[in-house]
Amino acid sequence: MNNKVWGIHWFRRDLRIPGNNSLRWNWKKSNRKVIGIFCFDSRFLSRSDFSHHRFAFFIDTLIELKSEMQKQGGDLLVVDDLPHLAFDKIFTFLREKKISLPKFVSWGRDYEPFAILRDQKVKSLMENWGIEVHTERDHLLIEPWEFKRSDGKGSFYQVYTPYSKQWFAKLNTPEIRARIESHSTFEHYVIRLENNNLEKIFELNWDTLLKQQDFPYQDSLLKFYEENKKHVRIKIPTAGTKEAFKQLNKFKAKIENYNVERDFPSCDGTSKLSIFQKNGSIVSSQIIYFFNLQNQFTKEIVWREFFYSVMYHRPENEKKSFIAKYENIKWENNKSWFQRWKEGVTGFPIIDAGMRQLRDTGWMHNRVRMIVASFLTKDLLIDWRWGEQYFMNELIDGDLAPNNGGWQWAASTGCDPQPYFRVFNPWLQSEKFDHEGNYIKKYVKELRDAPIAALHDPDFDRSPWKYPKPMVEHKIQKNKAIMLFKN
Ligand SMILES: Cc1cc2nc3c(=O)[nH]c(=O)nc-3n(C[C@H](O)[C@H](O)[C@H](O)COP(=O)(O)OP(=O)(O)OC[C@H]3O[C@@H](n4cnc5c(N)ncnc54)[C@H](O)[C@@H]3O)c2cc1C
Repeated sequence: MNNKVWGIHWFRRDLRIPGNNSLRWNWKKSNRKVIGIFCFDSRFLSRSDFSHHRFAFFIDTLIELKSEMQKQGGDLLVVDDLPHLAFDKIFTFLREKKISLPKFVSWGRDYEPFAILRDQKVKSLMENWGIEVHTERDHLLIEPWEFKRSDGKGSFYQVYTPYSKQWFAKLNTPEIRARIESHSTFEHYVIRLENNNLEKIFELNWDTLLKQQDFPYQDSLLKFYEENKKHVRIKIPTAGTKEAFKQLNKFKAKIENYNVERDFPSCDGTSKLSIFQKNGSIVSSQIIYFFNLQNQFTKEIVWREFFYSVMYHRPENEKKSFIAKYENIKWENNKSWFQRWKEGVTGFPIIDAGMRQLRDTGWMHNRVRMIVASFLTKDLLIDWRWGEQYFMNELIDGDLAPNNGGWQWAASTGCDPQPYFRVFNPWLQSEKFDHEGNYIKKYVKELRDAPIAALHDPDFDRSPWKYPKPMVEHKIQKNKAIMLFKN
C-alpha cells in the first residue's frame, strides 16, 4: 500500500460486485487496488426493529460477498464499529505506520434519514483526512431529487400516479436507458461465478494490515456471527448475488402471468426478490434490464421507489403519520389483542394464515400484508407503528421505506393512502383472493379438513376444528374505526 494509489469501497446496502457503479469507479481510479469494508455497529443488535432472521440472512450475504471479492483477488473486512470511528482508527494507524492513506473512498447512496446523517459525518471526516469521496446511485433507478413536478412545486410527488407517470417517461431518456443497459454483463458475471472462473480483477487485500499486531480490527466478526445463530428459528433462504440471479431466472417462467397471479397468495406468482433487494444483492435496474420492462411488474418496483422518495422528502415519516391530523388518533392499543394478532389466533383464517406465514418463513405475500395491516389498524384499532415494528422484527425483507409506506397506506395515515372510509373486509378479501382456501389451509393446519365455507363465513361454527371464534365483529369495528378518523 505504501506510496501507491489505492482505494476503499465502503459497502452498505450494495452488497454485490456486478453493476456496483461506485465500486467500479474506485476500481478504475485506483488501478484495481481497491478493497472493501463493511462497518457493523453491534449496538444495532439492540434496536427495537432488529430481526434475528434478517440479520442471519444479512450475515450470509456478507459471507458470499467476501468470498466473491476474494475469488477475484480482492477482500472485504467487516468491523464492529461506527463508520466514522472505524475510518478514523484505520487512517490513524496508517499514518503512524507511515503507510500511504487511500486516495479514494466510495459508496452507493442511501436515502433513509439515519443513513443521510451518517454519510454526512463520514464525508466531513474524509475531507479532514484529505481523501476523495465518490458516491453513486445504487438501489434506486431514479433518485428522489431527479423529479420535476409539472406544477413547478419542487421534486416531491405526494401521489403515486403522477409520480409513476414521470418515472415511466424518464425511462425513455437516454440517460436512464443507459443506467439500465449498463447491466448487460450481469448474466455473464453470474455464469462465471457459478463456474468458478471469475477473473482476478482486484489487486489488494487486507492481509498485510491484519497481520500487524496493533491494527485496530481483526477479521473474525463474520465467523463469530455465522456461528452464533441461536435465535434463528426458521429456515433462512440462501443469500447472495448468485442466488438472487437464480430467483430472477425462476421467476422468468411466471412473469407473463404476474398481472393475474400476483394478488393470489396460493399462486406463488410473485418474484420473491425483495429479500435480495434489501441488501443490494440485486438492484431494481438489474431486474428491469432482465425483464425488459414488463409493465405491471415494473409498476411494483415504482411503488418501492415512490416510498423511498416519500421517506427522503419527509424523514419525520419514520415516526409520524404523513397526514399530520391523524397523529392525534386515539388508537385503543389493546395489548392482548395485539398478541393474538401476532400469534395468528384471531379467529379470522386469512389473518391467521398471513401471520403464521410471517412467523414461520420470515416473508408474507403482499396482498396478505395489506389485509393483516388493515385488520390491525381498522378492526383491532391498534396503532400502525406497533404492526410496523413487528413486521420489522420478523421480515427478512424488512425495509424502512416500503414497510412504513405499506403500513401508513393500510392505516390511511400515509402519503396517497387507502381512504379511511374504505375498510378491507377480511372475509370478502379471503373469499376473493383465496377462494379455494389453499393458502389458508397451508398455514392454518387445524382447518385443513374444513369446508370452504368455514374459511370465509364469519358465522360458521369452526369449533369442531378447535379453531377460535372471530375475536371481533368486523362491521362493528369498521364503524368504530371510521369514527376514530372522523373525530
Ligand atoms: C404493510 C406492508 C408492509 C410491507 N413491508 C415491506 C418491507 O418491509 N420490505 C419490502 O421490500 N416490501 C414491503 N412491502 C411491499 C411488498 O409487500 C413487498 O415488497 C413484496 O411482497 C415482496 O415480495 P416480492 O419480491 O415477491 O414482490 P413482487 O410482487 O415480485 O414485486 C417486485 C418488487 O417490487 C417491489 N414491490 C412490490 N410490491 C410493493 C409494494 N406494495 N410497495 C413497495 N414495493 C413493492 C418490491 O421491491 C418487490 O421485490 C410491504 C407492504 C405492505 C402492505
